[in-house]
Amino acid sequence: MIGTRGAAQAADLTDVRTTNLTVVLRYVRAHAPCSRADIAASTGLNKATVSSLVTDLLDRRLLRETGLVANRIGRPATMLTLESRPYAAVGIEVAADHMTAVAIDLAGERLLSWRRASPLTGPPGKAVAAVAALAGRVVGKVTGQGRQILGLTVAVPGLVAADDTVRFAPHVGWPELDLRAQLVKALRRPAYDVAVDNDANLAALAEQRDGGYADIPDLIHLLGGVGVGAGIIVDGRPLRGGHGRAGQIGHLQLDPAGPECGCGRRGCLDAYVGLPALVRRALPDTGADGPVVDYAPEIERIVALAGAGDATVNAALAEAGRRLGHAVATLADLLDPRVVLLGGSFVPLAPWLLPAAEAEVRARVSTPDACRVAVSTLGAGAAAVGGAARALDRVEAGHLPAVP
Ligand SMILES: [Zn+2]
Repeated sequence: MIGTRGAAQAADLTDVRTTNLTVVLRYVRAHAPCSRADIAASTGLNKATVSSLVTDLLDRRLLRETGLVANRIGRPATMLTLESRPYAAVGIEVAADHMTAVAIDLAGERLLSWRRASPLTGPPGKAVAAVAALAGRVVGKVTGQGRQILGLTVAVPGLVAADDTVRFAPHVGWPELDLRAQLVKALRRPAYDVAVDNDANLAALAEQRDGGYADIPDLIHLLGGVGVGAGIIVDGRPLRGGHGRAGQIGHLQLDPAGPECGCGRRGCLDAYVGLPALVRRALPDTGADGPVVDYAPEIERIVALAGAGDATVNAALAEAGRRLGHAVATLADLLDPRVVLLGGSFVPLAPWLLPAAEAEVRARVSTPDACRVAVSTLGAGAAAVGGAARALDRVEAGHLPAVP
């Protein structure tokens, strides 16, 4: 009896200490450079406890001291900041026509950002091998710099269950796929955590952690690509829904008499703003010499022609902007976000999409000033950034690297 109680108490004490370590780590991320006294004053932890926690975090190489700064009163204080050198976290975004890989350090600074044109619509086995090969190259690059990998998260354009199984990913044509298990096997059971999540959810996570609107607790990231998805943050927390389907808005029907959609219905959001539909409308000659396998050159052409005032391209972008605005207005009425951010393929097209989208939101929402539409400051690869950021969130949730 006593032994059991003692063990339970020890476990509780460990939990309290881990929680306090994460409190200090999060404080330093938000306020660096800062002193031990600053941490104690703001967190309510006593100075001796803070001192012990900081020593622990220094030993784990999560913090470092940056030198002395004169205090207004008393002795000069040693300042603390995040230690950016020993660790890296990796995110890989899988899209129908390309992959983006990002590695960041503990402070969120990008160590590398690669884009690979890579149609992943073939057999899933081939796609898993391609993702694993890219992950292996990124991991090799950053471990070659002497860094330890904290985690790898793959962002996929589809429905991902709580156990990381991909349930439905029509744009890459995958059946139900235990992607995490297959990646772990392909990467030969690595020491770091491997995870899989929905791309728009991870993009929203990146917005919340490092985006230009990170201080806003209610935001939506609209991730453009071959299909469209929404990553939703409500009250500071991701909204996933009962089956992980929250934010799957590509087949939100805007007009029952609209153009045909890949799902068999008509007038879905994807049928207006998904890349195949948008490119078909803006560049009617595209596809004459075979199907598009990488949309990046088509997007570049659209941007160049829009800039030159091409009437067909500008009409197509204005139409897409209006349809996006319609979808944003629906999201605004349902979820009341403060800002909806355009990401993915919408980023380079935003100068033309935004004015039409904003006008449509103003026309459809009774309190349009309550919801802004803006471009993601994270660029087109926010989901990959979010994948990497997930590993940093795990560290701050208590999965701390051991003392070396
Ligand atoms: Zn549809």
